Amino acid sequence: MENEKLVVPVRIDEDNEVVTVPLNCPVHGSYMGRLYPFLNGVVVGGPCPECDRLRREKNEQYRRARFLFQAGALESLWGARLIPEVMLDLTLETFISRTKREADTYKEIRQLVDAFGKQKVVMGILLAGKGRKQAQHLAVGALLALQLKEIQGLYCSATGILDRVRRTWVAKDSASGGKIRDDDVLRCLIDVPILVIDGLGEHQSYHKRKSSQEIFSRAIEQRLSLNHPTIIYTPHDSETLQAIVGSGIVEMLKSYYILYILNFVK
Ligand SMILES: [Zn+2]
Repeated sequence: MENEKLVVPVRIDEDNEVVTVPLNCPVHGSYMGRLYPFLNGVVVGGPCPECDRLRREKNEQYRRARFLFQAGALESLWGARLIPEVMLDLTLETFISRTKREADTYKEIRQLVDAFGKQKVVMGILLAGKGRKQAQHLAVGALLALQLKEIQGLYCSATGILDRVRRTWVAKDSASGGKIRDDDVLRCLIDVPILVIDGLGEHQSYHKRKSSQEIFSRAIEQRLSLNHPTIIYTPHDSETLQAIVGSGIVEMLKSYYILYILNFVK
């Protein structure tokens, strides 16, 4: 039972000092509460600490429920777990930096997580070069850390994105019954607050280049315009990447992303 608007017929000092007095909660009994001036000498008692705690807990539960609901809605649109189950232990806490470069990259990722939603964070981080496992660990670690702050994140491989888009084209009789459209896939990629694309440029042998370029460039461009950060890993150097995904995407990455050439220890 809530007890916030308990009206107590007590006058308080003319200088409107806040006074603490014994108050009574019908549920939790007596407590010392603060009195706040309300109207014409009438004051209201502050809430019972136990009621207050219960209300905060309930709010927390509502927030949690809403977060899980959003995650479920996003997952059904995406058609898969937002973060693959096998990656759920790749937290930032278990990441061990073995080189200066790894430590610097870790710091940048940590900064992205800590500042997320509070101040303007980086538009994106591009991890390039050898050492996919370490890159994956950092990127997924960021998603998991943000999940604790109830920020939705999506991990996907570049080939996975294209497979998903292609399935919506060819299979009207697929598991989704043709209900998931390529626009929905793209919508997920654009709307999710934090996105990881793993292995950009590894898809050339599977897909026609033009259509894949268009999907990635639309997703990256629109995420930039919405200020939704993205973490991308590519095994390629800039020229190879450009040959595969096109100069438009590489230009965007160079202009707006923080670049880390990893050469991580394998
Ligand atoms: Zn109470």
